[in-house]
Amino acid sequence: MPMSRNTQIWRLRTSLEEVHFSGIGAMVTRANARGGDLIRLEIGDVDYEPPTEIRDGITYCLEKGLTHYPPFAGEIALRETIAEKLQKENGIKCLPDDLLVTVGGSLGLFCVIYAIVEPGDEVLIPTPIWPHLASMVQLCGAVPVLVAMSPEDDFRLDTNRLRMSLSKRTRAIIVNSPNNPCGTMLTKEELQRLVLLAGEHDLTIISDEEYEQFVFSEVKHISPASLYDRTITIQSFSKTLAMSGFRLGYVVAQREIIDAVGKVHLFTGMYAPSIAQHAVLSAMPRRKDFIRQMVADYRERMHCLVDGLNTISGINCRYSEGSVYVWPDCRACGISSEELAYRLLDRVGVVTVPGSVFGSSGEGFLRLSLAAPIPRLLEAVERIRYALTG
Ligand code: PMP
Repeated sequence: MPMSRNTQIWRLRTSLEEVHFSGIGAMVTRANARGGDLIRLEIGDVDYEPPTEIRDGITYCLEKGLTHYPPFAGEIALRETIAEKLQKENGIKCLPDDLLVTVGGSLGLFCVIYAIVEPGDEVLIPTPIWPHLASMVQLCGAVPVLVAMSPEDDFRLDTNRLRMSLSKRTRAIIVNSPNNPCGTMLTKEELQRLVLLAGEHDLTIISDEEYEQFVFSEVKHISPASLYDRTITIQSFSKTLAMSGFRLGYVVAQREIIDAVGKVHLFTGMYAPSIAQHAVLSAMPRRKDFIRQMVADYRERMHCLVDGLNTISGINCRYSEGSVYVWPDCRACGISSEELAYRLLDRVGVVTVPGSVFGSSGEGFLRLSLAAPIPRLLEAVERIRYALTG
């Protein structure tokens, strides 16, 4: 007998209606439906093979039977290595017990937000930013307060705008540097102003450092945790070791916070994959060489793509300071960023993401990923020129 199609029997959580799939996924679906010779620049999934050493870790796991539940907070050897890295590279004072290894940076972020907000609390999110962050806040029953940064100021963090959006219910501020999608990085002065605001209003800073290794300029990445104790930092191996499919990230904060975040992680992801942990552990000793070479390549791609885009009339693009994206200003094209992204896809098969997906002030911009070799990026430039002028 066919299953009943009576939808009345399903009762879904009504608040989920408020949470929308992101516009990034919409571009993926539209591109899949179109097919043909596509240049896919909609996703920031680093197009490198992970370091070869990961095989040693995987083999070790299989040979030693380490294919079961790993320790709750993550393998101690991995947490020791990460703690050393955080101290040396990020100036974050921590011990292995101040760390929780998580199922990707994403679940780490979700667990952090869940652990610190009450339903109805507000979380300030300067935009443009990765839209999943606001959805996570919504899933936790809290209110994402999107604070638009200005294109006239290159979307730099403007603490005054954040200050104007404060309320009695404001609990935390999420920052993401290097930023997805703008490629901007927080300067020391911007961070100092942010820290002052957070301190004055008793706020937690949640620092999403997914792209911390992808730095193209002379500006150094600064972890807010090195300046402000009440910071919770989330990093990941998805981009830095090109291991997005392994689903491994981590959270670092004061131990009482880590205990609370760990509770949420235990009842959701439970444990981070053991095989991924051993794979990363084997890749750690040579990690710096791998990252140096990959980031040098991404820097070159970024320059080629930006220089190419700037030869097209109507497009104006700054060099990204970091991340794996470029963020051209296309306002002079005179159409909405969604129309523009659709036109590029439908006419010439170049897949991008409309800037409006990342917040209202992103309207008129596009996000293009650098996860393609230079000849493909240059071909994308020629196709975009044709779509706009041909
Ligand atoms: N933060 C930002 C800004 C991201 O862009 C992403 C993924 N693209 C993540 C966090 C989470 O990625 P993952 O779960 O793979 O670490």
